[in-house]
Amino acid sequence: MRKIRNHNEVKMKKVYIYDTTLRDGAQFEGISFSVNDKMRIASKLDELGVDFIEGGWPGSNPKDDEFFKKAAKTLKLKRSILTAFGSTCRADASPASDTVIRGLLKAETEYLTIFGKSWDLHVKAIIKTSLDENLRMIEESIKYLKKKEKRVIFDAEHFFDGYENNPEYAVKALKAALAGGAETLVLCDTNGGSLTSRIFEVVEEVTVAVKAPLGIHTHNDAEMAVANSIAAVQAGCVQVQGTFNGYGERCGNANLVSILPALKFKLGFDCLSEFEFKDLTEASRYIAEISNVKQQDSQPYVGKSAFAHKAGVHVNAIIKNPKSYEHMEPSKVGNKRRMLISELSGKSSIAEKAEDMGVSIDKSSAETKTILTRVQDMEKEGYQFELAEASLFLLMKRASETFKKYFEMEEFRVIIEQRKNGPIVSEATVKLKIGSNVRHTVSLGDGPVHALDQALRKSLVETYPELKEMHLSDFRVRVLDERSATAAKVRVLIQSQDKNDSWWTVGVSENIIEASWIALKDSIEYKFAKDERNKKGKKK
Ligand SMILES: [Zn+2]
Repeated sequence: MRKIRNHNEVKMKKVYIYDTTLRDGAQFEGISFSVNDKMRIASKLDELGVDFIEGGWPGSNPKDDEFFKKAAKTLKLKRSILTAFGSTCRADASPASDTVIRGLLKAETEYLTIFGKSWDLHVKAIIKTSLDENLRMIEESIKYLKKKEKRVIFDAEHFFDGYENNPEYAVKALKAALAGGAETLVLCDTNGGSLTSRIFEVVEEVTVAVKAPLGIHTHNDAEMAVANSIAAVQAGCVQVQGTFNGYGERCGNANLVSILPALKFKLGFDCLSEFEFKDLTEASRYIAEISNVKQQDSQPYVGKSAFAHKAGVHVNAIIKNPKSYEHMEPSKVGNKRRMLISELSGKSSIAEKAEDMGVSIDKSSAETKTILTRVQDMEKEGYQFELAEASLFLLMKRASETFKKYFEMEEFRVIIEQRKNGPIVSEATVKLKIGSNVRHTVSLGDGPVHALDQALRKSLVETYPELKEMHLSDFRVRVLDERSATAAKVRVLIQSQDKNDSWWTVGVSENIIEASWIALKDSIEYKFAKDERNKKGKKK
């Protein structure tokens, strides 16, 4: 077996985390990020301590342009650096006149990542230019960007395939980028078909041939992306690129959620000590919710089943020693062991969460037990609270004596009607008890949920005028247990906003209207509860 060269020396080096969920990850089938989704994900990555966030490709689509514009104004990153992605200039053209390069400069980021060809086959057969011209395009594009006071990361596209075909030329492409002034040279396994042992060898050879900081960017077409990234870091790469939950075109990109804990907890890369590993599970689920992709229960490290133990021999062994059937301590990545004895740790995490949210409960109290049981039951029904923290807050409040009811629902009815040649009309009626009054309100809406929302507010706004400043800003529906033989359940997530905050609430039911109603009701109750909490906070 080969020995890893200077392993301890490599481990001492800083490894930079480069996330491309917002660019490469957005290519995943089924994902379509809005500008606000991108802002939310970027803020979450910043909280975690990711070093670089690749925000998109400015100039390639209006959404990415808008994102960079908005980011420059309002995205206040504390720990991460935002980068914009693009390509070198085209053949036989100067960088100054190139539209791609100009688009990049508009993004107003300090760092730019540009990709260029390092596989001779691509140069000759795809962009149809000479090998020398391609090297010029790389070097001059970077030189030009440096002149514009940008810091540049170079992605060598198809590097590993190029290296197999013509190693000398692939290395020349890297050297052209270095001569242009690139800070980091990223070796890409763009087609995702390389095997781990070969990745290790090639990276080792490149570290000898080129004296520059190297990065690794792999795709998962042979299901090797995580292993390949880790091997590349062991062989000397100091930047690891990937996406959250492995989102990406075809079979996805390298999954940072699996790579990072392996580097930290299995290989002891001290340099990741700043990263908030304890929030990894929550962040992975949060990003899955925003992406509207169901997180796999079996996702390593962070999935719901990653540390779940079924009854029997395993549980007995786990009680004696968790190491017996677990590859690592789940709490290190913010995940939970799931089985009966987890109740104790469950209670303390509920108490901790409550404290975070400003609800005071005692870990050993009956209330905590009630909340925990309720959360577990609701999760079984299909609820998830990682994003919908406002609903979790209400659940805790309802279990405590401090919960104040502002209204009670007596009845609601929704009618959807289409008359011959007419538009579809949605009408909702709600009957609410507000104090000692019972109020009946009818409202039309653009759809059944909108009508329901309108009726609910109309009924309440006279008594509670603060509701005028609140509106719905996002609405998401996910079908749960698609395989179930009976009616499938849906989970509805609603985002609401007032002038100070935005919050998510959740409802689950076999009936989409009922699920929406639960989430709507929570959204209004949360508005009341949070205003009250803020008032109290100010008095102190
Ligand atoms: Zn890629």
